[in-house]
Amino acid sequence: MHKDIATPVRTKEILDKYGFSFKKSLGQNFLIDTNILNRIVDHAELTENSAAIEVGPGIGALTEQLAKRSKKVMAFEIDQRLLPILADTLSPYPNVKVIHQDVLKADVESYIKEELAGFEDIMVVANLPYYVTTPILMKLLEEKLPIRGIVGMLQKEVADRIAAKPGTKEYGSLSIAVQYYTTAETVMIVPKTVFIPQPNVDSAVIRLIVRDEPAVKVIDESFFFQVTRASFAQRRKTILNNLTSQLPDGKQKKAQIITALNQAGIEESRRGETLSIEEFGRLSDTLYPIFHT
Ligand code: SAM
Repeated sequence: MHKDIATPVRTKEILDKYGFSFKKSLGQNFLIDTNILNRIVDHAELTENSAAIEVGPGIGALTEQLAKRSKKVMAFEIDQRLLPILADTLSPYPNVKVIHQDVLKADVESYIKEELAGFEDIMVVANLPYYVTTPILMKLLEEKLPIRGIVGMLQKEVADRIAAKPGTKEYGSLSIAVQYYTTAETVMIVPKTVFIPQPNVDSAVIRLIVRDEPAVKVIDESFFFQVTRASFAQRRKTILNNLTSQLPDGKQKKAQIITALNQAGIEESRRGETLSIEEFGRLSDTLYPIFHT
């Protein structure tokens, strides 16, 4: 038996064998600690009938552990130079399919239909490239893919914002965007020393479990997100000030916005960061007719 990929010695051997040089611009920080990887995979609660989708397999450190603990792994990798390496390192695992694609451009739903047909339990598990963490998470959630959830390593600062509760300084439109689709929690804080090269920022693992229904039912999803973004545009301003300055013709519609706030039971002097997701739902519905006539 060979050693796991995610050990300092084996990783170095692989990198040397292929003369691989890290591309910082692609967020390449590889994991070299099998223990941490196993704990990440534990949080995905896979069974022998599960499928896993990975974003950015690198040289296969996490992919290998997923291959051992699920029925099939589908992994999207943008960097062509890693394909021959993955073909080598993952050769003992016929249940892995590597797809050479930028995940942000990939038609993930079609790939699921092709590669993961018949799977009832699909989980995304990834050590994400930090330069595109938020776009990747939002793409996977907005496309309403048939997944149970996402276990992802990312910058601790972004994890804090995603899992934040109302009334905290981390709470903002990203918290609401993610918590609209999922229940979110930070499940691990990860030291820099388990990566090569070490990232400049602290890392954490979040677990997002997709809700059966979004957290609130609203008339128009995109308007709901527009209202939440507007409400946080300037954090020190009141909700009324943000809405009037950010929404189209908001200043002229100030009186109507005040009425909508009253109807939704929200004091105009409150700040966006104090509103729960349910309150944003109510507010976007009472504002809706004012901006759609
Ligand atoms: N999974 C490996 C590990 O844990 O050691 C590597 C993780 S590394 C943080 C991120 C990986 O994502 C790199 O392999 C990088 O090339 C890849 N990547 C970066 N941007 C990507 C994109 N848009 N689509 C797919 N893969 C991407």
